[in-house]
This record gives sequence, structure tokens and C-alpha cells, in this order.
Amino acid sequence: MKLVARAQWGARPSRYALAYIAGTQGVKIHYEGAYVPKSLAAPDAHSACAGHMRDIQASHLANTKENYSDIAYNAVVCPHGYVFEGRGIHRKTGANGNQPLNAKDYAVCAMVGSSGLVQPTADQLDGLADAIEWFREDGAAGREVLGHRDGYATACPGEPLYAWVKAGAHRSDGKTPGTGGSGGGSTGGSQIARYRVTINGLAYGYGAVGDHVTAVGQALVARGFGKHYRSGPGREWTDADTECFSDFQRSLGYTGTAPHQDADGVPGEVSLHKLLGHLPGKTPVKVPPYPGRAAFVLGKANPAVTVLDRGLVRKGFTRHHADKAYTPGPMFSENTRLNVADFQRSVPALAGDPDGSPGPETWRLLLS
Ligand SMILES: [Zn+2]
Ligand SMILES: [Zn+2]
Repeated sequence: MKLVARAQWGARPSRYALAYIAGTQGVKIHYEGAYVPKSLAAPDAHSACAGHMRDIQASHLANTKENYSDIAYNAVVCPHGYVFEGRGIHRKTGANGNQPLNAKDYAVCAMVGSSGLVQPTADQLDGLADAIEWFREDGAAGREVLGHRDGYATACPGEPLYAWVKAGAHRSDGKTPGTGGSGGGSTGGSQIARYRVTINGLAYGYGAVGDHVTAVGQALVARGFGKHYRSGPGREWTDADTECFSDFQRSLGYTGTAPHQDADGVPGEVSLHKLLGHLPGKTPVKVPPYPGRAAFVLGKANPAVTVLDRGLVRKGFTRHHADKAYTPGPMFSENTRLNVADFQRSVPALAGDPDGSPGPETWRLLLS
């Protein structure tokens, strides 16, 4: 992939911190939806592409209606096949139309327009395929490839690009990536399983977090199946955990390392029990009823904040209180809000909107 990082194209900094996302179902393809000069696609015109990228970012930052923090796209692909980093991996896009759609897919835009340059070049389609693979491999994107117009009323990404998406988003030589169905499958022998299972109330697999994840990693290392760890094992389940667990499964005689096959590195009850000698279980905790958003007003005290604080302390999210000899109390302060936001960012189900305001899901997950 011919990646052009933000510093290389002269990106301005984000206006606000961009929201973290653990992963997406896939990628949505966009076009600029405006006039793009045909001269940009001339073979010797690539020197103009960084400036074109800065123009897109400037127009988004100037858009007071959307109040964008940054260029809305995660990446933009020029006619010469270069992938310009926009918001990048693990950052929520602002381009897909609304918050649920922004959390569901990354947004990749091609430098083609609704007039002037309307046909993507072969290099550009290959660059789009490069970008899709990048988000899959490093950004935990699923295998979905859609157009902006899928599920949202817009002409984007224009007919030529949409036809390419519908035909399977293949490289110009007809090869991968295609849409490939949903959630993995057996395409590509080196693909790492990135789904989660719940065993006895605890989650295992890519993105799962907890002391029970550390325990699995430590048991793998102790049994001699730790060679894929470059750091850790730790509390968050990474690809290294999956690869080590896959080695362990194969030592049990399981076969098939593609996602959803027996030795894909995602535990089942039997392999987990064989590794640990027991099945860890969640100690059931009674979560107090959610007190409603009115209990959490900045600068106001409420008994529910003390309960919330105890949850933050128990789960280790206190860094914004670190130097204040902290004990749980009823005041919902800005520091409390920042600690809640840290917790939200740490949980995939909440990370799409880490605003620090405890909703019912945040309350339940923090206190359970
Ligand atoms: Zn679009
Ligand atoms: Zn270019």
C-alpha cells in the first residue's frame, strides 16, 4: 500500500479528540460529490494530490453545520492509487450520515466527483482495495464493503464507484478483496479469527477484556504456547492471544485455523477447561437500578455518584483523580466524567460514544 500519513500531506490537527472505535462491520465507499478536475488524474499530477487532500480537510473543518472535528473520512484514495490517511484506523468517521452509521463502518473516499473527474482509475480501485485491507488488518474492520448510499439517502459514491462496490470491490486484476460475506469465513488461510464467545458469563476472543483474559494468556505461556506474544499477556485479548490459543488447540488435535473452524484460536468450553483445569465463571453481582441521567449533572451531588465512583475505583478508572487522595463521593465532577469516559473507551460496546455521561449500559457494565 502506498500510504501517505497525515504529516506527509500536511494535515491540520483535529479540532477535538476523535472518538475511538474498537472495530467496524466493514467499510463504506464515498466520492467527493462535487467538481473534481480531470487534470488531477493525469499521470504526472500526483504532486497536486496532497493539496487536494488539504482542501478537503479545510472544507470539512469550515463546515459549521456538521461541526466536524477533522476531515470526515478515515482515508482518501487519489487517482494514482495512493492512500491518504484521514482519521485513520480505530477512529470513528463523520462521513456516513448519522452516528449509528458512523460507528458501523469506516469511510473511505475516492478523489472522484459528480462532475469533471467521475471515473475512478485502475490504480485508484487498487488503492481502495489497499485501504480496505488496511482497515481489515489494522483497524478490525469486518468484511462488509458498501456504498455510502446503502442505508442512507445520497447519490454517493456515484454510479461508477457504486457499480464497482456492487461487483465485489475487486482489484483491477479481478482479485481480492471482495465483500466475502459477513464475519470472516474461510477466505484467506492467514486470516485471524476476530469474533468473541461467551463461556460461563465471560467473554473470550478478540477485544475481550478482563483478568480472566490475563489468566488464559498466563496459562498458555506456562504450557509453552506463548511464542506469539511480543508483549503481555495482558487483560485485553489480542491477535497474539488468538494465535497462541490456536497453537494450543492444535496440540489437542483440533484442525482448521480459519475463523469458526476448530483450531481458530477462539476458545470453546472443552479447550478452555483443558487449558485451565476449570471453567472460570462470573461471580454474579447485583447491579443497582439505573438512577436516570438526572442523577449525573456536572457540579451537582447525588448518592448515585458515590455508587458510580465505587465502580470506577473497583475497575481501576481513577487516573483523573490520581493526585487528590481520592475517595468515592456524591459530587459528579468533571474528573468523574473523564474517568467515566475512560471506562467507556475501554469497553467495545460503549467506545463509539465516550462522552462520560453514564447511560444505562455504562451503569450496568461498570457495576457488573
Ligand atoms: Zn459519501
Ligand atoms: Zn495522486
